[in-house]
Amino acid sequence: MTAPNNGYTLRCISCNAVNDERKTSTYCTECGSVLTVDYHESRKEIQYPLNTLLPDPLKHDATTLRRLSRLSELYGADLYAKLELENPTGCFKDRGSFVEVQKALELGADAICLASTGNMAASVAAYACYFKIPCFVFVPEKTPETKLAQSTIYDATIIKIKGDFKMCEILCREFAKSGNYYLAGDYVFRQEGQKSFSYELFEQGPVDYDYIFVPVGAGTNLAAIYKGFKELKDAGQITRIPSFVAVQPEQSSPVVEGIFKKEKIIKDHVNTMADAVAVGDPFDFYKVMEAIKDTNGLAFTATENEILESVKEMTVEEGIYTEPACAIPLATFKNNAATFRGKKCLFVLTGTGLKSSHIVTKYSLSSPVLSPKLERIQQYIESGFPEMQRKSWGQSREMIMGNVNMDDEHSRLYEEYVSGISKKGKTLKEEEIKALKSLVYNEDTKLEKPVEVLDYKLTMRMHGLVSAAVKLRLPNGEEIISLDQGVGPLDAVLTAIKAETDEFIPLVVKSHEVEILSPDTDSLVVATLVLEKEDFTFTSKGVSPDTIEAVIQAFVKGLAIANKALVV
Ligand SMILES: *Cc1c(COP(=O)(O)O)cnc(C)c1O
Ligand SMILES: [Zn+2]
Repeated sequence: MTAPNNGYTLRCISCNAVNDERKTSTYCTECGSVLTVDYHESRKEIQYPLNTLLPDPLKHDATTLRRLSRLSELYGADLYAKLELENPTGCFKDRGSFVEVQKALELGADAICLASTGNMAASVAAYACYFKIPCFVFVPEKTPETKLAQSTIYDATIIKIKGDFKMCEILCREFAKSGNYYLAGDYVFRQEGQKSFSYELFEQGPVDYDYIFVPVGAGTNLAAIYKGFKELKDAGQITRIPSFVAVQPEQSSPVVEGIFKKEKIIKDHVNTMADAVAVGDPFDFYKVMEAIKDTNGLAFTATENEILESVKEMTVEEGIYTEPACAIPLATFKNNAATFRGKKCLFVLTGTGLKSSHIVTKYSLSSPVLSPKLERIQQYIESGFPEMQRKSWGQSREMIMGNVNMDDEHSRLYEEYVSGISKKGKTLKEEEIKALKSLVYNEDTKLEKPVEVLDYKLTMRMHGLVSAAVKLRLPNGEEIISLDQGVGPLDAVLTAIKAETDEFIPLVVKSHEVEILSPDTDSLVVATLVLEKEDFTFTSKGVSPDTIEAVIQAFVKGLAIANKALVV
């Protein structure tokens, strides 16, 4: 590790004012714009804005630089990837967090706080935890659980806010002022860490790339990589800086739009499966615009479908499983294949797919549970389901089940469902048929329902509780009517059923979700309950044009599953 340099100035990129790092490392105190670190002399070695630099305790090796041989062959270009997903928390942000946390310690902060869509929280939490400084992370309520889990295990205090990233940012800034806290984030010192990407790349071989593709959210990473290259050039290490390609999801593209309009654009709402780059107000827009302009760069967007396709392609062709944001380079490259033919391109693969397994679950068919018999397994392999599962990628699960062959028991079960639904006077649409088949296919036909719901009746008023009367057949064959109340119809019905069943199968409803399959008012509804019996948590589904009936089905099925698990 080289000696850090103390000779630097925090300069505003708009008004050039010199700022004091003890007063701000976020916005210029003169004009509110963003800052950059100017070193007083150029050096061959990387310089950090720290008095003393400890070696990175969590990382010892460079991330892999790999040629993408198959994709190069396929698309007639010379393609490379730098696997930033190999960083300690599975994301490039560790490069910046390493420096930010040391800066916080140097400035004598009592704690670190930051707002994040998930990855930065995990990353800062990891370094804060190692260096034993408390860490507060502000995250939007929709942050994927796998990302939050990392912050949890690293002992951060998690502040989950009802609202989006922007709301978290505003609150966290206020919070930072309420104590001796270091406000971390996409600010000036983070870039000084993230620029190590360029130095590392330089050591890995010639950096004669024509283009470097970077997935962009706040723009901090692209700006940092560009700064690293500029420093290398100023020090005489390289003569040319590659052209930068800023890429974003079409559904969250303020930076790309801004580059074309030559002014900063702020979006109130952004919505993309590439949550790591879902940033409506890109902090480092001006630095990105400068990098694109100075390097004769480009900017592109990709649709959600193109992103999904490229996630799969990178995994299947090159064995690299990334999170959706990192698929945008490949997707945009393919969309503009003519521009890049024969060119040497580098894709910056910023984060690992293991943190986004919910995307895979959502956009592929889930596997059915099979009874433990060889013939059932054989039947399953021949049913066409596994083939379809492989081909189903990118389509919403449950929507491509039309051609699956079911065994006799499942066919019978399917007929039962269809006849129950027809009795209500409903004709199934194609999409509904597929969804129903998928649900039946995933069902255990040997389930014995311990109770049967024969009928129910609800009394609802505008004000006050809902009353439910549910007619049940109990395991001993006895038919009874259970009366109870709840805050809503589902609550009332389930409470009435549970009043009779809790005694022999105590089940807790942890959560429920209702999915409506078509825009029609008579649409088939799929109800999914997450249920818990002692330590055993599982899901159960029901389907009907009637929401309440779908929930009842799911619950009764849940009783059967819990009962069976108990017996086994
Ligand atoms: C944060 C993040 C980005 C975007 O980086 P910015 O510096 O915000 O532009 C891209 N990919 C992943 C996986 C990230 O976590
Ligand atoms: Zn300024």
